[in-house]
Formats: sequence, structure tokens, C-alpha cells
Amino acid sequence: MDFDLIVVGGGSGGVRAARMAATYGAKVAVIEADRVGGTCVIRGCIPKKLFVYAARFSKIFEIAGSYGWTVDAQFDWPTLVANKDKEIARLEAAYEAAVEKPGGTIIRDRAIVTGPNSVRLQKAGREITGRYLLIATGGHPYVPSLPGCELGITSNEAFHLKQLPHSILIDGGGYVAAEFATIFAGLGVHTTVVYRGRGMLRGFDEDLRAGFDAGLEARGVRRIYETTIRKLEKSGDDIVAHFSDGVDAPFGAVMFATGRRANTGGLGLEAAGVALNPDGSVPVDNYSRTNVPSIYAVGDVTGRLQLTPLAVREGWYVAETLFNNNPMSVDLSLVGTAVFAEPEVATIGLSEADAATHGDIDVYVARFRPMLNTLSPVPERMLMKLITEANDGRVLGLHILGPGAAELVQIAAIPMGMGARKADFDRAMAMHPTAGEELVTFKSPSYRYRGGVKV
Ligand SMILES: Cc1cc2nc3c(=O)[nH]c(=O)nc-3n(C[C@H](O)[C@H](O)[C@H](O)COP(=O)(O)OP(=O)(O)OC[C@H]3O[C@@H](n4cnc5c(N)ncnc54)[C@H](O)[C@@H]3O)c2cc1C
Repeated sequence: MDFDLIVVGGGSGGVRAARMAATYGAKVAVIEADRVGGTCVIRGCIPKKLFVYAARFSKIFEIAGSYGWTVDAQFDWPTLVANKDKEIARLEAAYEAAVEKPGGTIIRDRAIVTGPNSVRLQKAGREITGRYLLIATGGHPYVPSLPGCELGITSNEAFHLKQLPHSILIDGGGYVAAEFATIFAGLGVHTTVVYRGRGMLRGFDEDLRAGFDAGLEARGVRRIYETTIRKLEKSGDDIVAHFSDGVDAPFGAVMFATGRRANTGGLGLEAAGVALNPDGSVPVDNYSRTNVPSIYAVGDVTGRLQLTPLAVREGWYVAETLFNNNPMSVDLSLVGTAVFAEPEVATIGLSEADAATHGDIDVYVARFRPMLNTLSPVPERMLMKLITEANDGRVLGLHILGPGAAELVQIAAIPMGMGARKADFDRAMAMHPTAGEELVTFKSPSYRYRGGVKV
């Protein structure tokens, strides 16, 4: 064999697996067809959050006057894009070093799996062999095939627009749609969301969804629900969207944020005997192993939770299992997740609706104006919801809407993972004045569920 481990895909999961395997002395190759770093670094979490920061200045400028500042603010999109690209290039180099420093090799090519232990390099036109193969090819945006769909962009292109459109229509209701809606709106683009469902962020706690929807309204983001796009047509510089309710409207740009699909097309997995799910993702066991014993898969390509920390953890654990004699499986039972939109949303554990079907629960809710807003005319409120088991007070869910939501939920994930009770939260001394002190000063429940009924 040429290598102990051949990793196909140099994104979050692949790079971590390669780095750890090389650290344990394995001979490792990472094959990457595009830029090392993958979705998260090049066209996902990182550039997205930099754009979110840019968009949030509009709110800061809105409040600034109440604090005595006079701000003459101008925004220059090319400056943001160029500075973002510089930072992405720095991170890309860091990811390359993470593979190469412990002794791994990066091969810049497209890989096609040809057997349980072999991969063909498309450009180089040669085959290499490995004791184990790790498929970490991630996913790509799914675009519905409707007439004129080629006129739309996806999140991939949104990071490289030459100029900001005067208006944008975003098709989708998930976190990518939510985040880009508030990025564009915050940067001054007239923004409309069209979504086939009844509200954005399906699966999140209903109060968070309602609060988020109100936040979009306050930011001037138009939402058209229970509607789809039938057709797109070019009209001068604009794109006309024809909606399922018969209405037509022109937009400066149209973005599809309609989900993602696994990158398995043309990868050769079927020929190597690897079973695929109907949606093209790769089914794996708790140790990220496919049905072919020498082939593993991690990250978005497996169709599990599509989040960077999971891809990283899965990749690391494959290296532990194969090269450190330490089999480890990833626990997906308590995974926090955030929507870096405006207002920010973060959540961990059970939603109120889910928790109520599991047994008797107490629900603690706080709604308050974040202190930063109090001098300003901005009326927006923050929402915190803590859900506990009625009997022993075990914390089952935490849902936050507002500034710093993700940072708060990240920290609360530690006691929740340890099985913390409400009494443990209560024991913590409040830090004042903070938003987070609400979590440790809840007195009696706002309401309860007994036998599945709200009382
Ligand atoms: C807009 C956006 C925002 C996001 N924001 C967040 C966030 O805030 N927080 C979060 O946790 N997650 C976020 N995600 C999700 C996160 O980016 C992914 O979960 C993560 O990148 C998955 O890592 P991965 O290793 O599975 O795949 P990827 O990072 O996608 O890496 C796969 C790599 O494989 C390469 N590849 C594919 N096929 C081949 C082949 N045949 N040969 C060679 N190379 C190949 C690709 O070029 C790519 O570099 C976001 C995603 C998007 C799109």
C-alpha cells in the first residue's frame, strides 16, 4: 500500500482526521480537488460570520446616536470581500500546515474511488492505494430544477458578488437562508424571503421561531410563506420571479438556500461496493465505518448533522479508532446549534413541544430588552427559555434569541452535558449586569406541562 490512510476531501473532517492520524505515525495523503479548508473555511461558517459582523454594524450605528455618537457611515462591499478573502487565505494556509507539519501529504487533484483500497487521481491519471480510505467530500448546495434556475446564485457565489444587488430574493427557510437574509438586509439590500413552509427555522422551539420572525419584520425583511418559485426570467438587469400564487416580481438577484446534497456523484463509491442512501449520502456506523470495512466516511457526506464541529470530531475519532488503538464513537445526543442571524438564535436540547411529549416539565421564560438597547428607541427584546424535568429539575432544553445567544448556549452545554439540574444553575452566583444572569435567577416556572397538557 502507498499509504495507511487516504483522505478524500480536505475540509473540516478530512483535515482533522489526517492531522491526527499523521500525529499517531500513520502515512497519510489528503486529496483535495479545490481549496484546502473545505466548506467551513472557504465558503461557509467563517466567511459567513465575517459578513454577519459586517451587517451588524448597521444596528450599532442605529443605536450609536442614543449614546451620544454622530456617525457618518459608508459601506464599501469590495473592501469587505477583499479583506474576507485575505483572512480565508490565511486560514487555508493554516489548514495546509495542519496536514503537512505532522508529515501528511496534500495531493491537489480530484479523486475517484476504484476499490476498497484504491483511488484514481483524475488529473494525474494514476492510481494510489491505501490500507484505509476516508471519504470526507462534504456537500454542495441543492438548486431546485425550475425554469431559469441558472439565473440564481447559491451561498457559494454570494461570497464573491462583484457588487451588492439593490434587492434580493432568498428561497429557503433554514439557517443559511436566515443568515443571508439578515446579512443582505443589514448591508442595505432590500431583502425578501420566499419559503414553502409556514415560517423559517423549522425544528427550532416555536417561541424562538416567532421571535425570529418578528426580528426579520423589524429589520424590513419581507417574508412570503407557503409559496414557491415557479420560474425565473431575465428582464434587463433584473430577474423576475414567478411565484406559485400567481404573483410576479423583479429582484436584483435571487439566491437559492434550499438545502445541500452529499458530494458522492461520480465518486465511484458504488463501484467499490459502498452502499449509499437514496439522497446520495453515505450511511455509516457509530465509528463512521461504511459497509466496506476499509472505507470510512465523516462529515456532511454522511448525512448526519451538518455542522463543522461534528465533522471535526468524527474525523478525529476515526484516527483514534484506526491508528491509536482507541475506538471512539461520536455522541450526537446533545448538540448545540446556532443561527448567526439578526437576531441571533441558539438552542440545545429539547424544544418545548418535544419535551412536553417526554414527561412532566417546567418551563422558565424571560423576555427583556437587552441593556444595550435601553438608551435607544430599538424596542427589540431578548428571549431565554429553560426547560426542566418537573420531578428532579434536570435541564432538558435551553433556547435563546438575542445578542450573544450562541456564546451563552455554548457555555450552558457544559453543565447540561453533565446532567445539571435547575438547582445547579441556581447555585451559580449571578454576574451583574449581564444577560446571562437571567439563566441563574429564574424563580418559579412561567408555566408547566402535566400529562402533556400546559397548565
Ligand atoms: C453558508 C454555510 C454556512 C455554514 N455555517 C456553519 C456554521 O456557522 N457552523 C457550523 O458548524 N457549520 C456551518 N456550516 C456547515 C459546515 O460548513 C459543514 O458542516 C462542514 O464544512 C462539513 O465539513 P466536511 O469535512 O464534511 O466537508 P467540507 O468542509 O465540505 O469539505 C469537503 C471537501 O472535499 C472536497 N472534495 C469533494 N469531492 C472531492 C473529490 N472527489 N476529490 C477530492 N476532493 C473532493 C471539496 O472540495 C471540499 O474541500 C455552514 C455551511 C454553509 C454552506
